Formats: sequence, C-alpha cells, structure tokens
Amino acid sequence: MEIEELYSLFKLSSGITTDTRNIQKDNLFFALKGEKFNGNGFAEQAIQDGAAYAVVDDASLKGKERMIYCEDVLETLQALARHHRRQFDIAVIALTGSNGKTTNKELLTRVLGQKYKVHATKGNLNNHIGVPLTLLSMPDDAQVAIIEMGANHQKEIALLCSIAEPTHGFITNLGKAHLEGFGGEEGIRKGKGELFDFLKQSGGIVFVNANDPKVRALAEERNILPIVYYGDDEDALLIKEESPVVVFESPVSGKTYTTFIGGKYNFDNMQTAHAIGRYFDVSEDKACEAIAHYNPDNNRSQHVMVGTNHFIMDAYNANPSSMEASLKSFGALKTDSPKVVVLGDMYELGDYSEAEHAAIGKLLSELKFDDVVLFGENMKAALAFLPKAYYFTDKFSMHNWLLDRKYENTYILVKGSRSTGLESVLKAFQNAG
Ligand code: ATP
Ligand code: MG
Repeated sequence: MEIEELYSLFKLSSGITTDTRNIQKDNLFFALKGEKFNGNGFAEQAIQDGAAYAVVDDASLKGKERMIYCEDVLETLQALARHHRRQFDIAVIALTGSNGKTTNKELLTRVLGQKYKVHATKGNLNNHIGVPLTLLSMPDDAQVAIIEMGANHQKEIALLCSIAEPTHGFITNLGKAHLEGFGGEEGIRKGKGELFDFLKQSGGIVFVNANDPKVRALAEERNILPIVYYGDDEDALLIKEESPVVVFESPVSGKTYTTFIGGKYNFDNMQTAHAIGRYFDVSEDKACEAIAHYNPDNNRSQHVMVGTNHFIMDAYNANPSSMEASLKSFGALKTDSPKVVVLGDMYELGDYSEAEHAAIGKLLSELKFDDVVLFGENMKAALAFLPKAYYFTDKFSMHNWLLDRKYENTYILVKGSRSTGLESVLKAFQNAG
C-alpha cells in the first residue's frame, strides 16, 4: 500500500496503537516486533477488539480482511510519521544529549506553552518507536513541536532526524551516558553530533550554550550557520543559589525566582528553556514563571521533606556524568546540617564500568559527606577509595540501617540507575515516619 493511502486510513482512524491491551475503537494497529514478542500474532485479536486495520509484515496474514501487509512494520510506522510531520509548516525543535533531555523538554514545553500550542514528546518516548508515535499524535493545530531524541548507539539520532525533520535543535550536554553502546566518549560526540549534521544540511537553526565548551566545539567544528548562542549574553539568567533548589534572577526584570529543582546542571537546563523562549518571543515574566513553577515527576532532582530531613531524590537515573554533577552540586550545598549520600550502581557501562565506579569513589573521597552509603555490585569498585563508606547489596538491610541512624535535619542525596530502584529509600523513611 502506498504511504498516501495508508495516511488517509490513519486520518480516518482514531489513532495509532501498538499494544493490543489498550485498543480503542477504530485504532490503526501496528504489529511491531520486540525481542520477546511479535505483534503479528496479536493482529487478529486487535481487529476483534475494535481496531479498524492492522499493519502487519507476516506473509501468512497477507490478503486477510483488514490486514495491511507491508515489508516492515517499523519502517512503515516511521514513514507514516514522516509523512504526517510533513503536513506541518511549523518549528520542530529536536533535542538530544547525554543528560537532562526530559527535563529540558518539560521546561521548554512550559515556556513555549505560554505563547503557542505546543506538541511535545510524552514522558520519555524518545526512541525509534517513541519518536514516530510522538509525531503521529501531533494534532492539526499544533504550532510548535518539541521532540526528545534518545540514543544509545551511532546513527540513531540521524534516523530520528530523518523522521522528525527538525527545523531547530540543541544538545543538552555531552557526558558519559550509554558509554558501552556508543563506544566511548568520542563515539558519543559523533552520535549526538548527528543532530547538528542534519540541521547543517537542512539549513536549520542550532542553539548552543556558549558556556558549554564541549557542545560549542561540536557545533563550531561543523561550521554551522546560523548558531544562536546563549548563556553569556546580557539577558541570560543569573544563578543565585543552586542547592537544594535553584534560585535565579532575570537581569531583564530584576526579579528573583525560586524553583523546585536543584543543581547547577538544572540551572543550565533553565537557561536553555529561557533562551529559546526569548528566541520565540515569549515574554520575560511568563518564561521565568513557567520555569519556576516546573515541579518534575518524582525522582528527577526532586526535593522532598520527610519529617525534618531533606531528601534530594535523583533516583530516576545515573551515569558517570550525571553522578558527578549531582555529587558536586550536593557538595556545594551550603548548610550546617549533616549531609548523607546514598548511591546505587550505574549501568550500561560495559568495559568502562569498573573504572567509572572507581572514579566516583575517588570523587567522593575528595568531597565531604557525613555518611557515604553505597549500594550494588558495581559500587564495590568505589569502596577502595572510601574506607569509611557503608556498603550494601541488600536493600532491606540498607533501609533498616539508614533508619537506625535516626537522622534529623539532614540532607540526603539518593541517586542510582533506574533499575536499582533507590526511590525505595524515600518510601522507607515515609513509611517509618
Ligand atoms: P533519559 O536518557 O532517561 O531520557 P534524560 O536525558 O531525559 O534521561 P532527565 O530525565 O531529564 O534526563 O534527567 C535524568 C537525570 O539526569 C536527572 O535526575 C539529573 O540527575 C541528571 N541531569 C539533568 N540535567 C542534567 C544536566 N544538564 N547535566 C548533567 N546531569 C543532568
Ligand atoms: Mg528522557
């Protein structure tokens, strides 16, 4: 079937689904394949459950009623998304980077939302399936699109750009995330640089934080024109405090704003949203208020009180650079209260794992915390530098040990990779209180 024809069926449908567990009447079902499942096996069920058509690539379904057969369902989904995106003559802003993509996307959505109807990636749907689904859910009256692009190997961002065809873009930062898949730091530069390559070729606009030498070099070595720099100009936001939450000042209005999230890195994220807001003519007061009001989902640099204790919950994710950023920021927190860190394993590091965990140990030995608590097999490599650290591989024992410390008026940073599930530490304190 030609893409035009499929597109008219899509326009008549009630939307796309890839999951038979939540089919709505007249959905267009795409039978994707994963490591453990094959959507083709669910196609007939999807039709029975109310889907208008099922797009399949299993030859045995060819010619059956309401089955649309194609060579490759994933590629067809991506082609349909590209076709839908091409119906819009609007700014499509793509962002990628090692850390802070979702935070940037959320901040920018709120800032641009002050003036435009914004369509943005939902949650973290940032991969080769999520980006097409994000685009295909773009309503006809969208005025700006913000597309989060995630990658853990080369050529992935190039593919996502070929689908979303961004007109503008930026890289949040270049750190050490997915070191294994990218093949080291140079690999990360190359992989993320694919966004700049696309924008250079298509004449799009690149936003660059002038204070970030790594991102700056990546843009400048490509001779991209135009680059819109921000962060070092007279209208740039000024940071007053970074911990436990960022306080910033607008030099334009002279007003000071207290936010809900902490860390110098989150200030950088705010600076980006503010600068792009200004580029798109959002008023200064509205942009600053939108930034200050942003309160993230649990566990992304969130400040939570339990009794008299301050938790900095950063248990959503961890990799070497975000761990370093969090620890340095927590170390810089000015307070007379005790400071405790509870850190879990970082994953997806492959051969780099031991050295990167050891580097965190070394960094911890240079910073002053009252208790250092380490959790997980990989963190063992950090212990060598930390004779006084407490080490656990069992969460239950760790919770009990932490509760036994009877902390009062203490700052507690909790950070680890997603699957360490360290948000349980907060729950243990909440349940005990
Ligand atoms: P994912 O790869 O899961 O999509 P992401 O890039 O979208 O992650 P966020 O979800 O915004 O990132 O943030 C995850 C964590 O990264 C935060 O809790 C924080 O610890 C850290 N982080 C956020 N912004 C930055 C930044 N600019 N520099 C370094 N670390 C950051
Ligand atoms: Mg994300």
